[in-house]
Amino acid sequence: MDEYTRIWKQILEEISKNVTSVDYDMWFSKLEPISINFGKLVLVTSLKSVQSILNTPEYQKYIMQAIKKVDNTLVSDYIIITSEEKDSYLTNKEPKVETVINDNKPLFNDKYTFDNFVVGSSNNIAKSAAFSVAQNPGNSFNPLFIYGGVGLGKTHILHAIGNYVLSNNKNTNIIYATTEQFVNDYIESLRNNKTDKVYEFRDKYRKADILMLDDVQFLQNKEGSQEALFHTFNDLYQAKKQIVFTSDRHPRDLAGLEERLKSRFQSGLTVDISSPDLETRIAILQKKAYQKNFNISKNIIYFIAEKITSNIREIEGALSKVIFFCQLNNKDCADDLDLVMYALKDELGTNGNGVLTMDSITDEVCSYYNITKDEIKGSKKTKNIAEARQIAIYLINDKLAVPLMSIGQYLGNRDHSTIIYARDKISEQIKSDLRIRDIVNNISCRIEKK
Ligand code: ADP
Ligand code: MG
Repeated sequence: MDEYTRIWKQILEEISKNVTSVDYDMWFSKLEPISINFGKLVLVTSLKSVQSILNTPEYQKYIMQAIKKVDNTLVSDYIIITSEEKDSYLTNKEPKVETVINDNKPLFNDKYTFDNFVVGSSNNIAKSAAFSVAQNPGNSFNPLFIYGGVGLGKTHILHAIGNYVLSNNKNTNIIYATTEQFVNDYIESLRNNKTDKVYEFRDKYRKADILMLDDVQFLQNKEGSQEALFHTFNDLYQAKKQIVFTSDRHPRDLAGLEERLKSRFQSGLTVDISSPDLETRIAILQKKAYQKNFNISKNIIYFIAEKITSNIREIEGALSKVIFFCQLNNKDCADDLDLVMYALKDELGTNGNGVLTMDSITDEVCSYYNITKDEIKGSKKTKNIAEARQIAIYLINDKLAVPLMSIGQYLGNRDHSTIIYARDKISEQIKSDLRIRDIVNNISCRIEKK
């Protein structure tokens, strides 16, 4: 047996432990390994739709986790190509990757443009602000700070800025980095005390005309990187260079971050993206179906838009699945509700395979607030802990059919009236206080993703 076949078998076995059997049969089991190329396992599928499903982050995660689990030194990554690409791939041997490096500048994903960004009440302010920044970098809102839960379009907007600016001036030095990359670059610059590394880091970030840093919540508790960013920020800002950040929460709610950095984050314009409303979800589905050149009846669009509410990445995933199932059944139009329900049974069922419990909900709240379970159940009334407790009470009551008494018992033997008070308080605040509403939405999304 070839080495790549052997390794792929082991990877498949790992994958099978983590995905449903439907998912396994549907997406993973029919891939064919054909070679290992520069540490990348090359997998072939005959269907473009399988390729695009497996290139969504949800599915990528399963493959990457499995690769890491399998004990081997040959494969550290993978690429999925279609049968048509196979010949050219084998002759070129150059892996095609999504972001192509051109003059050392990453090009942005060309699917992520302003034109492709569907606007609704949940995201129009963020989009307008980003567009204004793209038209006039450094002279509009600086810094621009965009926050919102997962899968709501933050990264899309950053790429849209990149694409727009480069289309006007391809020489602009745009540095786009995930916070993870920034932190890694910083750590790398310290290694062995090599001064050239330190300069390399400085040069890379401080010579940017536009710096975009995605998901800055990952800076929490990383003091060295925070300091590096603080100085980078000051240099760029003084030179009137545009800076854009994204985060899963408002700067003031970033625990474990230096105050001076939080205040820099908020010194320009801070805008949020929230979950899309029904109309926006419908518009997104229509647009994506159109882009994929697939006919979907109105009823089915409504059905998906009503059922899949949490975020846009999941809406896209659901749509891809529906299209794929239709293709498998030789249908060129999605109009059969039974088939759609079958295709989406994982999504429509229990929201993934996790069973919600008071414990799992409380876990998410604690992790959001960066506090321990003992603290949330204990008697401390500091603002942070008290708020986390009230939100946990609200969410447990909202998501589970458990008696208020049990919630009280679970959260440190609190009495019934405390539970009612907290529940009602948060219900009210959701209507009037944007910050609380965002936090509740954000944690809800995480709970539903479980
Ligand atoms: P985030 O970075 O906030 O987690 P992404 O930017 O990765 O989310 O978006 C997830 C997916 O949803 C992407 O494929 C993106 O293109 C799509 N998406 C998000 N918002 C919109 C929108 N308003 N219109 C069209 N597609 C969107
Ligand atoms: Mg993102």
